Amino acid sequence: MSLFIKAEDHNLVEAIVREVITARWNQLKPDQKNDGFRENAFTPKLVVSISARHVHLTDKDVKTLFGYDELKKMKDLYQDGFYAAEETVMIVGPRRRMLPTVRILGPTRAETQVELAFTDAISLGIDPPVRESGKLEGTPGCVLVGPKGVVELRQGVIRAERHVHMNKNEAIFYGVKDKDRMILRITSDGCSTTFENVLVRIGNGLKLEVHLDTDEANAADLEHAEKVELLNANCNYKCHASAA
Ligand SMILES: [Zn+2]
Repeated sequence: MSLFIKAEDHNLVEAIVREVITARWNQLKPDQKNDGFRENAFTPKLVVSISARHVHLTDKDVKTLFGYDELKKMKDLYQDGFYAAEETVMIVGPRRRMLPTVRILGPTRAETQVELAFTDAISLGIDPPVRESGKLEGTPGCVLVGPKGVVELRQGVIRAERHVHMNKNEAIFYGVKDKDRMILRITSDGCSTTFENVLVRIGNGLKLEVHLDTDEANAADLEHAEKVELLNANCNYKCHASAA
């Protein structure tokens, strides 16, 4: 198999990717075959989810805001191990502008982080940067108000960078590595939209899922989308398309 493939030869690229995936598939143990792939089809199931404004808390901040140690699970999220908690907090910005009930997502983290869509940030009166989750240096702070206490954050408010979670097999399928950028095309009546710079985040046990914020999803009318496609940015918008 030649490693030198003309970028425009998508059929060949696709054939080779299928060959690699098939070879890899045949090497997998039966329990690994459930890791993101449908039986008899090497097309991962693409899910595009809306990540509405939310807060991640440290153990210490849970205790301060709610007076107890453990968040109460309300609903499991699509990614295993993650959940929406029953708890919400009030977020207060400058000049007492606030968002009254913002959902907490669990489990707890090493650093408290507030993720807002641009519209949320405008209504709160702050201007957070677009950041990868966890990269909080130099970001604005805010005040969190819970039923039992108040936390003043010096930093931690971001607009979460659009991203896609996937496992290693799915990364091979799309021909991407961790931190690469992909393209998401949403086809919907009257407002089809193509998102660039979709950050790839690969991890064991992750399911293929794109996270957009509410502004992004609403702009493309994701709710009524006819088709979603995740594309390798190096393939000129054409290869490895996958509809939901
Ligand atoms: Zn995410």
